[in-house]
Amino acid sequence: MTTLAASALTVHFGHGDRGLTAVDRVDLEVPEGATVGLVGESGSGKSTLARALCGLVPAAGGEVLLDGAPVPKRHGGRAVDRRRRVQMIFQDPFASLNPRMSVGEAIGEAAAAGRGGARRGARREQVRRYLELVHLDPELAGRYPSRLSGGQRQRVAIARALAARPEVLIADEITSSLDVSVQSAVLNLMRELRGELGISMMFVSHNLATVRYVSDHLAVMYLGRIVEIGPTETVVSDPRHPYTQALLRAVPRLGASPAETAADVELGDPPDPHRPPPGCHFHPRCPVGPQAVPERTICVEQDPRDGAADRPHRTFCHFASSSPGRAPAVPPREEQFHVARDR
Ligand code: ADP
Ligand code: MG
Repeated sequence: MTTLAASALTVHFGHGDRGLTAVDRVDLEVPEGATVGLVGESGSGKSTLARALCGLVPAAGGEVLLDGAPVPKRHGGRAVDRRRRVQMIFQDPFASLNPRMSVGEAIGEAAAAGRGGARRGARREQVRRYLELVHLDPELAGRYPSRLSGGQRQRVAIARALAARPEVLIADEITSSLDVSVQSAVLNLMRELRGELGISMMFVSHNLATVRYVSDHLAVMYLGRIVEIGPTETVVSDPRHPYTQALLRAVPRLGASPAETAADVELGDPPDPHRPPPGCHFHPRCPVGPQAVPERTICVEQDPRDGAADRPHRTFCHFASSSPGRAPAVPPREEQFHVARDR
Protein backbone atom coordinates (compact mmCIF):
# COMPACT_ATOMS: atom_id res chain seq x y z
CA MET A 1 0.00 0.00 0.00
CA THR A 2 1.15 3.50 -0.75
CA THR A 3 1.33 6.04 2.04
CA LEU A 4 2.27 9.17 0.12
CA ALA A 5 2.19 9.77 -3.60
CA ALA A 6 2.56 12.56 -6.11
CA SER A 7 0.53 12.33 -9.28
CA ALA A 8 1.55 14.63 -12.14
CA LEU A 9 2.59 17.11 -9.44
CA THR A 10 3.69 20.46 -10.86
CA VAL A 11 5.09 23.56 -9.15
CA HIS A 12 5.78 26.89 -10.90
CA PHE A 13 7.66 29.89 -9.55
CA GLY A 14 7.38 33.40 -10.99
CA HIS A 15 5.88 34.48 -14.28
CA GLY A 16 6.89 35.16 -17.88
CA ASP A 17 10.62 35.35 -18.61
CA ARG A 18 11.48 34.91 -14.95
CA GLY A 19 9.06 32.02 -14.47
CA LEU A 20 10.21 28.44 -14.10
CA THR A 21 8.74 25.00 -13.58
CA ALA A 22 10.62 23.64 -10.57
CA VAL A 23 8.58 20.41 -10.49
CA ASP A 24 7.28 19.16 -13.82
CA ARG A 25 4.45 16.57 -13.74
CA VAL A 26 6.17 14.30 -11.25
CA ASP A 27 4.78 10.88 -10.39
CA LEU A 28 6.29 9.37 -7.26
CA GLU A 29 5.22 6.89 -4.60
CA VAL A 30 6.49 6.38 -1.09
CA PRO A 31 5.27 2.88 -0.23
CA GLU A 32 4.30 2.12 3.35
CA GLY A 33 7.33 1.45 5.54
CA ALA A 34 9.82 2.11 2.74
CA THR A 35 12.44 4.80 2.28
CA VAL A 36 12.59 6.54 -1.08
CA GLY A 37 15.79 8.41 -1.83
CA LEU A 38 15.65 11.46 -4.05
CA VAL A 39 18.92 12.50 -5.63
CA GLY A 40 19.94 15.07 -8.23
CA GLU A 41 22.24 18.05 -8.61
CA SER A 42 21.56 21.34 -6.89
CA GLY A 43 18.62 23.19 -8.45
CA SER A 44 16.97 20.06 -9.87
CA GLY A 45 13.83 20.66 -7.78
CA LYS A 46 14.29 18.17 -4.95
CA SER A 47 13.42 20.57 -2.13
CA THR A 48 10.49 22.02 -4.03
CA LEU A 49 9.07 18.53 -4.62
CA ALA A 50 9.58 17.67 -0.93
CA ARG A 51 7.89 20.89 0.16
CA ALA A 52 4.99 20.39 -2.24
CA LEU A 53 4.45 16.90 -0.81
CA CYS A 54 4.16 18.49 2.66
CA GLY A 55 1.90 21.25 1.45
CA LEU A 56 4.53 23.92 2.15
CA VAL A 57 4.43 25.18 -1.45
CA PRO A 58 1.26 25.17 -3.54
CA ALA A 59 0.96 22.85 -6.51
CA ALA A 60 0.09 24.41 -9.86
CA GLY A 61 -1.11 21.04 -11.13
CA GLY A 62 -1.51 17.41 -10.23
CA GLU A 63 -2.14 16.19 -6.74
CA VAL A 64 -0.71 14.76 -3.56
CA LEU A 65 -2.33 11.57 -2.29
CA LEU A 66 -2.15 10.39 1.28
CA ASP A 67 -3.31 6.80 1.73
CA GLY A 68 -4.86 7.02 -1.70
CA ALA A 69 -6.99 10.10 -0.94
CA PRO A 70 -6.23 13.48 -2.52
CA VAL A 71 -5.07 16.07 -0.02
CA PRO A 72 -7.09 19.27 -0.41
CA LYS A 73 -5.08 22.27 -1.62
CA ARG A 74 -6.76 24.80 0.63
CA HIS A 75 -6.22 25.24 4.32
CA GLY A 76 -8.71 23.50 6.54
CA GLY A 77 -9.13 20.49 8.78
CA ARG A 78 -7.66 17.87 6.48
CA ALA A 79 -4.86 20.09 5.24
CA VAL A 80 -3.82 20.74 8.85
CA ASP A 81 -4.01 17.02 9.56
CA ARG A 82 -1.67 16.42 6.63
CA ARG A 83 0.87 18.77 8.20
CA ARG A 84 1.05 16.39 11.12
CA ARG A 85 0.91 13.17 9.13
CA VAL A 86 3.76 14.26 6.85
CA GLN A 87 6.64 15.76 8.82
CA MET A 88 9.65 17.42 7.28
CA ILE A 89 13.19 17.96 8.58
CA PHE A 90 15.51 20.42 6.90
CA GLN A 91 19.21 20.98 6.24
CA ASP A 92 19.25 23.74 8.81
CA PRO A 93 17.71 22.39 12.03
CA PHE A 94 17.02 25.98 13.11
CA ALA A 95 14.35 25.97 10.39
CA SER A 96 12.35 23.39 12.34
CA LEU A 97 13.15 24.62 15.86
CA ASN A 98 11.86 27.71 17.62
CA PRO A 99 14.86 29.40 19.31
CA ARG A 100 12.65 30.48 22.23
CA MET A 101 11.49 26.96 23.04
CA SER A 102 13.57 24.56 25.08
CA VAL A 103 14.23 21.13 23.64
CA GLY A 104 11.64 19.62 25.99
CA GLU A 105 9.00 22.22 25.10
CA ALA A 106 9.57 21.73 21.37
CA ILE A 107 9.25 17.95 21.55
CA GLY A 108 6.37 18.15 24.05
CA GLU A 109 4.44 20.51 21.81
CA ALA A 110 4.81 18.17 18.83
CA ALA A 111 3.78 15.18 20.96
CA ALA A 112 0.64 17.03 22.10
CA ALA A 113 -0.33 17.62 18.45
CA GLY A 114 0.38 14.00 17.63
CA ARG A 115 -2.58 12.34 19.32
CA GLY A 116 -0.48 11.90 22.40
CA GLY A 117 -2.34 14.64 24.31
CA ALA A 118 -1.13 13.75 27.78
CA ARG A 119 -0.83 15.01 31.32
CA ARG A 120 2.26 16.96 32.27
CA GLY A 121 4.05 13.99 33.87
CA ALA A 122 3.28 11.71 30.95
CA ARG A 123 4.44 14.46 28.60
CA ARG A 124 7.81 14.64 30.35
CA GLU A 125 8.13 10.88 29.98
CA GLN A 126 7.34 11.17 26.25
CA VAL A 127 10.03 13.83 25.80
CA ARG A 128 12.48 11.58 27.54
CA ARG A 129 11.55 8.66 25.31
CA TYR A 130 12.00 10.63 22.10
CA LEU A 131 15.35 12.02 23.24
CA GLU A 132 16.51 8.49 24.01
CA LEU A 133 15.22 7.29 20.64
CA VAL A 134 17.59 9.71 18.87
CA HIS A 135 20.41 8.90 21.29
CA LEU A 136 20.43 12.18 23.17
CA ASP A 137 20.83 12.62 26.90
CA PRO A 138 17.34 13.30 28.37
CA GLU A 139 19.06 15.98 30.48
CA LEU A 140 19.14 18.12 27.32
CA ALA A 141 15.37 18.70 27.64
CA GLY A 142 15.99 21.98 29.47
CA ARG A 143 18.43 23.39 26.87
CA TYR A 144 17.71 25.87 24.12
CA PRO A 145 18.69 25.15 20.48
CA SER A 146 21.46 27.79 20.50
CA ARG A 147 23.24 25.84 23.25
CA LEU A 148 23.44 22.61 21.23
CA SER A 149 25.98 21.37 18.67
CA GLY A 150 24.88 21.04 15.03
CA GLY A 151 24.52 17.28 15.33
CA GLN A 152 22.54 17.53 18.58
CA ARG A 153 20.27 20.13 17.02
CA GLN A 154 19.54 17.89 14.04
CA ARG A 155 18.73 15.01 16.41
CA VAL A 156 16.32 17.25 18.31
CA ALA A 157 14.66 18.23 15.01
CA ILE A 158 14.30 14.52 14.19
CA ALA A 159 12.90 13.77 17.67
CA ARG A 160 10.42 16.62 17.35
CA ALA A 161 9.26 15.40 13.93
CA LEU A 162 8.84 11.84 15.27
CA ALA A 163 6.96 13.06 18.35
CA ALA A 164 4.16 14.27 16.07
CA ARG A 165 3.71 10.58 15.17
CA PRO A 166 3.85 11.11 11.43
CA GLU A 167 3.11 8.46 8.86
CA VAL A 168 5.76 9.85 6.55
CA LEU A 169 8.99 11.65 7.36
CA ILE A 170 10.66 13.77 4.69
CA ALA A 171 14.31 14.56 5.33
CA ASP A 172 15.80 17.24 3.06
CA GLU A 173 19.64 17.39 3.02
CA ILE A 174 19.64 16.78 6.78
CA THR A 175 23.31 15.81 6.85
CA SER A 176 24.61 18.42 4.40
CA SER A 177 25.57 21.03 6.97
CA LEU A 178 27.06 18.58 9.48
CA ASP A 179 30.67 17.53 9.99
CA VAL A 180 31.60 14.29 8.24
CA SER A 181 31.82 12.26 11.45
CA VAL A 182 28.42 13.51 12.63
CA GLN A 183 26.94 12.90 9.17
CA SER A 184 27.43 9.16 9.35
CA ALA A 185 26.05 9.03 12.90
CA VAL A 186 22.87 10.80 11.77
CA LEU A 187 22.60 8.52 8.71
CA ASN A 188 22.93 5.47 10.91
CA LEU A 189 20.24 6.90 13.18
CA MET A 190 17.88 7.28 10.20
CA ARG A 191 18.45 3.66 9.20
CA GLU A 192 17.83 2.54 12.73
CA LEU A 193 14.61 4.54 13.07
CA ARG A 194 13.33 3.15 9.79
CA GLY A 195 13.80 -0.36 11.14
CA GLU A 196 12.43 0.35 14.61
CA LEU A 197 9.43 2.51 13.77
CA GLY A 198 8.51 1.13 10.35
CA ILE A 199 7.91 4.69 9.25
CA SER A 200 7.78 5.68 5.55
CA MET A 201 10.48 8.12 4.56
CA MET A 202 11.65 10.26 1.74
CA PHE A 203 15.35 11.03 2.01
CA VAL A 204 16.56 13.91 -0.15
CA SER A 205 20.20 14.70 -0.89
CA HIS A 206 22.48 15.79 -3.72
CA ASN A 207 24.91 13.15 -2.45
CA LEU A 208 24.25 9.78 -4.05
CA ALA A 209 26.36 7.82 -1.56
CA THR A 210 24.30 9.24 1.30
CA VAL A 211 20.96 8.56 -0.37
CA ARG A 212 21.99 5.06 -1.35
CA TYR A 213 22.96 4.24 2.21
CA VAL A 214 19.49 4.82 3.64
CA SER A 215 17.07 4.14 0.75
CA ASP A 216 15.17 1.09 -0.53
CA HIS A 217 14.10 2.93 -3.69
CA LEU A 218 16.03 5.52 -5.61
CA ALA A 219 14.56 8.36 -7.68
CA VAL A 220 16.89 10.50 -9.79
CA MET A 221 15.73 14.04 -10.50
CA TYR A 222 16.93 16.28 -13.32
CA LEU A 223 15.62 19.78 -14.01
CA GLY A 224 12.22 19.26 -12.41
CA ARG A 225 11.63 15.74 -13.67
CA ILE A 226 12.27 12.25 -12.34
CA VAL A 227 14.47 10.59 -14.97
CA GLU A 228 14.97 7.17 -13.41
CA ILE A 229 13.40 5.30 -10.51
CA GLY A 230 13.65 1.80 -9.13
CA PRO A 231 14.88 -0.35 -6.26
CA THR A 232 18.12 1.23 -5.03
CA GLU A 233 20.36 -1.74 -5.74
CA THR A 234 18.89 -2.17 -9.24
CA VAL A 235 19.42 1.47 -10.14
CA VAL A 236 22.92 1.50 -8.67
CA SER A 237 24.09 -1.79 -10.17
CA ASP A 238 22.38 -1.33 -13.53
CA PRO A 239 21.71 2.37 -14.17
CA ARG A 240 19.98 2.93 -17.52
CA HIS A 241 19.73 6.70 -17.80
CA PRO A 242 22.91 8.45 -19.01
CA TYR A 243 22.46 11.03 -16.25
CA THR A 244 22.26 8.33 -13.55
CA GLN A 245 25.30 6.67 -15.10
CA ALA A 246 27.21 9.97 -14.92
CA LEU A 247 26.15 10.49 -11.30
CA LEU A 248 27.37 7.04 -10.39
CA ARG A 249 30.72 7.50 -12.09
CA ALA A 250 31.08 10.66 -10.07
CA VAL A 251 29.97 9.61 -6.59
CA PRO A 252 31.84 12.05 -4.39
CA ARG A 253 33.87 10.89 -1.52
CA LEU A 254 31.88 11.50 1.63
CA GLY A 255 32.45 15.08 2.65
CA ALA A 256 33.51 16.32 -0.79
CA SER A 257 31.69 19.47 -1.78
CA PRO A 258 29.30 19.13 -4.73
CA ALA A 259 31.56 21.46 -6.73
CA GLU A 260 34.31 18.86 -6.58
CA THR A 261 32.33 16.00 -8.07
CA ALA A 262 33.40 14.59 -11.39
CA ALA A 263 29.81 14.80 -12.71
CA ASP A 264 30.15 18.57 -12.89
CA VAL A 265 33.42 18.25 -14.75
CA GLU A 266 32.05 15.59 -17.06
CA LEU A 267 28.70 17.23 -17.83
CA GLY A 268 29.50 20.92 -17.80
CA ASP A 269 27.22 23.64 -16.50
CA PRO A 270 23.56 22.85 -15.90
CA PRO A 271 21.05 24.50 -18.25
CA ASP A 272 19.11 27.66 -17.41
CA PRO A 273 15.97 26.49 -15.55
CA HIS A 274 14.04 29.44 -17.03
CA ARG A 275 14.62 28.04 -20.52
CA PRO A 276 14.72 24.24 -20.23
CA PRO A 277 15.83 22.42 -23.39
CA PRO A 278 12.94 20.94 -25.41
CA GLY A 279 12.27 17.21 -25.57
CA CYS A 280 14.55 15.51 -23.10
CA HIS A 281 15.88 18.19 -20.72
CA PHE A 282 19.20 16.36 -20.54
CA HIS A 283 19.95 16.23 -24.28
CA PRO A 284 22.46 19.15 -24.48
CA ARG A 285 24.70 17.44 -21.90
CA CYS A 286 23.99 13.85 -22.85
CA PRO A 287 26.88 11.59 -23.91
CA VAL A 288 24.54 9.37 -26.00
CA GLY A 289 22.18 12.10 -27.28
CA PRO A 290 22.23 14.28 -30.40
CA GLN A 291 25.51 15.97 -29.41
CA ALA A 292 27.22 12.61 -29.87
CA VAL A 293 24.89 10.99 -32.43
CA PRO A 294 23.33 13.76 -34.60
CA GLU A 295 20.53 11.59 -36.03
CA ARG A 296 19.04 11.19 -32.55
CA THR A 297 16.74 14.17 -33.11
CA ILE A 298 13.94 12.47 -31.15
CA CYS A 299 15.74 13.63 -27.96
CA VAL A 300 15.08 17.24 -28.99
CA GLU A 301 11.58 16.58 -30.26
CA GLN A 302 9.91 14.31 -27.72
CA ASP A 303 9.61 14.15 -23.94
CA PRO A 304 11.01 10.71 -23.09
CA ARG A 305 8.30 10.26 -20.47
CA ASP A 306 5.65 9.90 -23.16
CA GLY A 307 4.84 6.22 -23.49
CA ALA A 308 7.50 5.26 -20.95
CA ALA A 309 5.02 3.83 -18.43
CA ASP A 310 4.99 0.54 -20.32
CA ARG A 311 8.76 0.04 -20.25
CA PRO A 312 9.91 -2.49 -17.65
CA HIS A 313 12.72 -0.34 -16.26
CA ARG A 314 11.42 3.06 -15.16
CA THR A 315 13.94 5.13 -17.10
CA PHE A 316 12.90 8.21 -19.00
CA CYS A 317 15.38 8.15 -21.87
CA HIS A 318 14.76 7.37 -25.54
CA PHE A 319 18.04 5.45 -25.68
CA ALA A 320 18.15 3.98 -22.19
CA SER A 321 20.65 1.19 -22.05
CA SER A 322 22.38 -0.84 -19.47
CA SER A 323 26.14 -0.79 -19.58
CA PRO A 324 27.22 -4.35 -18.80
CA GLY A 325 30.71 -4.97 -17.62
CA ARG A 326 31.18 -1.53 -16.16
CA ALA A 327 31.02 -1.74 -12.40
CA PRO A 328 29.79 1.55 -10.97
CA ALA A 329 32.46 3.37 -9.01
CA VAL A 330 30.69 3.16 -5.69
CA PRO A 331 32.42 1.73 -2.65
CA PRO A 332 30.52 -0.90 -0.66
CA ARG A 333 27.94 0.87 1.45
CA GLU A 334 28.80 -0.29 4.97
CA GLU A 335 32.53 0.05 4.49
CA GLN A 336 32.35 3.60 3.26
CA PHE A 337 30.52 4.83 6.30
CA HIS A 338 32.59 2.93 8.79
CA VAL A 339 35.67 4.61 7.38
CA ALA A 340 33.98 7.97 7.76
CA ARG A 341 32.89 7.27 11.29
CA ASP A 342 36.35 6.31 12.46
CA ARG A 343 37.91 9.54 11.31
P1 ADP B 1 17.20 21.49 -5.15
O1 ADP B 1 16.59 21.27 -3.80
O2 ADP B 1 17.24 20.27 -5.99
O3 ADP B 1 18.54 22.15 -5.06
P2 ADP B 1 15.14 23.52 -5.43
O4 ADP B 1 13.84 22.81 -5.31
O5 ADP B 1 15.62 24.27 -4.26
O6 ADP B 1 16.26 22.51 -5.97
O7 ADP B 1 15.05 24.54 -6.65
C1 ADP B 1 14.54 24.16 -7.92
C2 ADP B 1 14.48 25.39 -8.82
O8 ADP B 1 13.46 26.27 -8.32
C3 ADP B 1 15.77 26.20 -8.83
O9 ADP B 1 15.94 26.72 -10.13
C4 ADP B 1 15.51 27.29 -7.82
O10 ADP B 1 16.26 28.45 -8.14
C5 ADP B 1 14.02 27.53 -8.00
N1 ADP B 1 13.35 27.99 -6.76
C6 ADP B 1 13.30 27.32 -5.58
N2 ADP B 1 12.57 28.00 -4.67
C7 ADP B 1 12.14 29.13 -5.28
C8 ADP B 1 11.33 30.24 -4.88
N3 ADP B 1 10.81 30.31 -3.66
N4 ADP B 1 11.11 31.22 -5.81
C9 ADP B 1 11.62 31.14 -7.05
N5 ADP B 1 12.38 30.12 -7.49
C10 ADP B 1 12.64 29.12 -6.64
MG1 MG C 1 17.41 21.48 -1.88
